[in-house]
Amino acid sequence: MKFNTKTIHGGQKHDPAYGSVMPPIYQTSTYAQSTPGGHKGYEYSRTHNPTRSALENALASIENGNHGLAFGSGLAAIDAVLKLLEPGDEVVSTNDLYGGTYRLFTKIYERFGIKFHFIGMNNASHIEEYITPDTKLIWVETPTNPMMNIIDIMATSKIAKKHNVLLAVDNTFATPYLQQPLDMGADIVMHSVTKYLGGHSDLVMGALIVKDKELADQLYFIQNASGAVCGPQDSFLALRGIKTLHIRMQRHCENGKAVAEYLASHPKIENVYWPGFKNHKSYEVAKSQMNGFGGMVSFTTKGNNYEEAIKIVENLKVFTLAESLGGVESLAGHPASMTHASIPKEEREKTGVVDSLIRLSIGIEDIDDLIADLKQAIG
Ligand SMILES: *Cc1c(COP(=O)(O)O)cnc(C)c1O
Repeated sequence: MKFNTKTIHGGQKHDPAYGSVMPPIYQTSTYAQSTPGGHKGYEYSRTHNPTRSALENALASIENGNHGLAFGSGLAAIDAVLKLLEPGDEVVSTNDLYGGTYRLFTKIYERFGIKFHFIGMNNASHIEEYITPDTKLIWVETPTNPMMNIIDIMATSKIAKKHNVLLAVDNTFATPYLQQPLDMGADIVMHSVTKYLGGHSDLVMGALIVKDKELADQLYFIQNASGAVCGPQDSFLALRGIKTLHIRMQRHCENGKAVAEYLASHPKIENVYWPGFKNHKSYEVAKSQMNGFGGMVSFTTKGNNYEEAIKIVENLKVFTLAESLGGVESLAGHPASMTHASIPKEEREKTGVVDSLIRLSIGIEDIDDLIADLKQAIG
């Protein structure tokens, strides 16, 4: 089955009760048993729920995995991966990381004796310098948030395999429409379903997808034992979102390109970060591992003025000033004061999150309205 068919049918079957095309929202915590243990595959909704199962099967299908697991948020999904580790284990992670992931790693898991190395991964061979006998996990985000760095998944997976280390890829920005990390050798794909997969800014959810049965069993155990699952209503909404992922992504990419090119031509703009530019430092890697360049664009203004950046995001009318990304509507954010406020200034500036950096999640509105809005806001 091709990707554009999988988003609609992958892992799905019509409901056995009445043939409903969409799975019903099984809003139930428990399931009747005819005799102790005599149930129809479902006993309690933390463990399993038919609506969540339908979503988990869809997730596995679109990422070319064998097992999908849905969680109450993206961070809950990441948390489950970290619970595979033991005190004393080490993790090598992208340094230009989603702020909440950085916070989870440093404020929670460092306390439990896990050591993190946050490094630039533009050159994958750099990773090897940080691998010790205690390294158990490489955590990669690509494209990164918000600097749009690209990490070579295939090269990283070769290093991971050589040292017998798990490779997890946060595929939130790219989505499986643009990039399928499991096919490039990653062991775990993670999503904030809140973003493009849900696609309509109406839910918070996370997911993990794996190929390996043993790894899936370990993660299912953690999912059930820790209990950070999502509910049936949200599972239904996520499934509904996934059905249009391919057409939404196509438009996100078209609009993203147009906005990136407009900004690059604007006299007040200093840098535009978008992996589709031929002068982007990882353009060749992006072109080879992605089927398009996505709808996320970041930029800085000349003079790097904090107040000017705040004024631009306040002036926007079609773009909404908000955290999050990946919905049908265009959003603008100021990472230094919003998503990355939890990262120390010194630390964030090292990775390029300077005072004037503005991050745009380009929606699927008419491109003329988006450009006109940027034009009036930037001046
Ligand atoms: C939003 C986001 C997360 C966290 O997901 P939540 O659903 O907000 O918990 C992780 N990684 C990336 C890249 C994100 O954008």
